[in-house]
Amino acid sequence: MNKDFREGLLQIDLGAIGDNYIQLRDRLATGSRCGAVVKADAYGLGMAEVAPALQRRGCRDFFVATQDEGEALRQLLGDDVRIVVLTGVRPGFELDCAGAGLIPTLFTLEQLREWVALCSRAGIAGPCALKVDSGMTRLGMTPEEFDQLLADPALLRSADIRLLLSHLACADEPDHPQNALQLRNFQEAAGRLRQRCPDVELSLANSSGICLGGEYHFDVVRPGSALYGVNPVPGGANPMRAVVELRLPVLQKRRLGTGRSVGYGATQQAAAGSWLATARGGYADGILRAQGGRGCGWACGRRLPMVGRVSMDSAVYDIGALSEVERDGLESIELLNREITVDEMAGYAGTIGYEILTSLGHRYGRRYLGS
Ligand SMILES: *Cc1c(COP(=O)(O)O)cnc(C)c1O
Repeated sequence: MNKDFREGLLQIDLGAIGDNYIQLRDRLATGSRCGAVVKADAYGLGMAEVAPALQRRGCRDFFVATQDEGEALRQLLGDDVRIVVLTGVRPGFELDCAGAGLIPTLFTLEQLREWVALCSRAGIAGPCALKVDSGMTRLGMTPEEFDQLLADPALLRSADIRLLLSHLACADEPDHPQNALQLRNFQEAAGRLRQRCPDVELSLANSSGICLGGEYHFDVVRPGSALYGVNPVPGGANPMRAVVELRLPVLQKRRLGTGRSVGYGATQQAAAGSWLATARGGYADGILRAQGGRGCGWACGRRLPMVGRVSMDSAVYDIGALSEVERDGLESIELLNREITVDEMAGYAGTIGYEILTSLGHRYGRRYLGS
């Protein structure tokens, strides 16, 4: 392995991300645009590489979580894209936000009033997005506040509301009754706002929301995870291309003469005669500790069970399934690839693919394909 990759290789396929973008876009109802969520450093995969790749595939609507991310993205992509900051603007930083051409998502009446007043005092345009709570109870105007907004025509006239957003709580469970309920609430809010502001665009669906069907698509959709290979229809076949591959160097191989316990806490026994390999990559590298004793690696076309707890910098694998020649040649173990998906790894750790991606460590070398 070359020096850049001696602590492991995280390979990110920008071509696959681009293909996933096109695949999602091709499913959309007529008139709906496909945006992209690149918050949290594009789910840990590197916004600086991922966002330009999406822009090259035609994406013009980007969503980030924070103003810092938005400012960095503006530098990266230039003025030709729309950037929406999903968690709004922090008091005292409104003019920076407007100055960078970012569209803050506002979710209280007070925020909207403040934003409009500040922009008007500064004599600058203040396009914004508005978020309503359609049932998730996280961020968004309450129905009472939304009523107050609609009863304030002066505010609606002076505010430059470009987008009405809401977020689905259960989109990854297509049969959950909450989906239809949130859809109705959003449609109702949208209808009322558009009577006063006919040009406001509408956006409801994340990755899984896109898969719920055309009535969830509206003007712009906001996929994140599916772009990065996470299955938007958990339980079903994953329609997305795998994006990440993670390969870790083997540090030590051994055959046990007698049965012994393995790792911290001596939680698991390995029998006499077992072949074990210890590889780099522990919980400080995003190999979540919760998968200890359940997760697996991959080499020579076979799954290799993890044995014992995951340490901070390494974990142990049972390589008994390999032939002697394969064992002798074994220099690395794959933790993520086409076979072991982020969803599979997440299952071992009792979490979701999103957390696997955003936990990926910074000690690996990174290689981008298709850049
Ligand atoms: C993160 C986020 C998304 C993207 O969700 P995925 O499930 O990753 O597609 C969309 N909308 C909002 C408001 C978000 O916070």
